[in-house]
Amino acid sequence: MLGGVRTVTCHGRTLMPIPPDLRKYSQARRRPANQKLLEMTHLTLLGIETSCDETAAAVVKRRGPGDGAILANIVRSQLEEHRDYGGVVPEIAARAHVDCLDHIIAAALDEAGIKFHDLDGVAVTAGPGLIGGLMVGLISAKAISSVHKKPLIAVNHLEGHALTVGLTEGLEPPYLLLLITGGHTQLLIIHAAGDYERLGTTVDDAIGEAFDKTAKLLGLGYPGGPEVELKARDGNPDRFKFPRPMIGREKPDFSFSGLKTALRQAAQRIEPLSESDIADLCASFEAAVIATVGDRLDKAIAQYTSNNSFQESRHLVIAGGVAANKALREAFEVTAEKAGFQLHIPPPALCTDNAAMIAWAGSERLARGWTDPLDVPARARWPLERLTPSSTKDNHQAKDIGQ
Ligand code: ADP
Ligand code: MG
Repeated sequence: MLGGVRTVTCHGRTLMPIPPDLRKYSQARRRPANQKLLEMTHLTLLGIETSCDETAAAVVKRRGPGDGAILANIVRSQLEEHRDYGGVVPEIAARAHVDCLDHIIAAALDEAGIKFHDLDGVAVTAGPGLIGGLMVGLISAKAISSVHKKPLIAVNHLEGHALTVGLTEGLEPPYLLLLITGGHTQLLIIHAAGDYERLGTTVDDAIGEAFDKTAKLLGLGYPGGPEVELKARDGNPDRFKFPRPMIGREKPDFSFSGLKTALRQAAQRIEPLSESDIADLCASFEAAVIATVGDRLDKAIAQYTSNNSFQESRHLVIAGGVAANKALREAFEVTAEKAGFQLHIPPPALCTDNAAMIAWAGSERLARGWTDPLDVPARARWPLERLTPSSTKDNHQAKDIGQ
């Protein structure tokens, strides 16, 4: 036992479930007056996540709009398998998911104290992500759905990140979302579950990727984000004048590849690098990222607030692993405060990849009767803005549940 939570082992490794206090997200705080609410029965979902380098399963209970509780949430990171390569190796990732997923699903059900027949549905990440890993999760979910006759809900991984604040804070759309992960950097208006509008995205590298590549270039560990952040704390952010890509452009897009090149050239000019050179490079890199993202955020906030119907919903949500960066969080707080926005960042364990967010997003879909057929495909690419409610209805078997 670990603080009241059972630990689980998989091939000799201990899996660390999320501590119990993170399960108590049950307040239904904000409900926009103009949003039609669905009167729901309680829904209990199994969530499965295998889109990248975390194998995860969770059980979440949805008691109504903005009212959910995590009954179990187990994440096994594959960091150790990928560390030597300095990045995620797709084939290794898929094999590791195959090795552990069944154990993790069994452990999640066990921890929640339920059996397959107690579930109301099975939610699984169907994309975007690494296709081999996605197929492992999707095939398991289809098997469970088919054998136990439970609805299957194919969830877009980004939708999981986008809706997490509903589970953690009871915050319901509309709100502005900045999604910053190892694979994505996007600014979106979350109009409602299933209705997303992308304001901007990266034209090259994702922000987490930029941190990871910077760390690799400077010979720091993997994953790079936390390493760069640690070094940056002792560095001088003004020593190197790195470019601030995209600053001033109306459309809130991002670009990080020029910044990475500038850093490489600066590092080459002063080789061999001392500890303080590395710290200064990291601090200057982080300062450029903060300035760029801050400017992009200002533009997105201006676009969001130009719509009168959002005046009462001045909420900025930041999700994804990069939101763990303290310097960035502090900068976002200032940006949000200046614009009169409330800032919401899910706790770190629910910011990085997990299956609780997939189960919760699945429950939002199931509550609306949006389920998927057993031949639903895994999709390496799957833009979030394609999930408008109308296209969802076209693509899904409409089934009214609990209405
Ligand atoms: P993905 O879905 O792409 O795996 P995650 O949401 O799991 O993304 O986040 C992983 C990414 O977050 C990695 O690129 C990692 O370097 C980055 N990251 C994690 N912690 C920090 C940090 N403190 N500062 C900057 N980036 C970070
Ligand atoms: Mg990840």
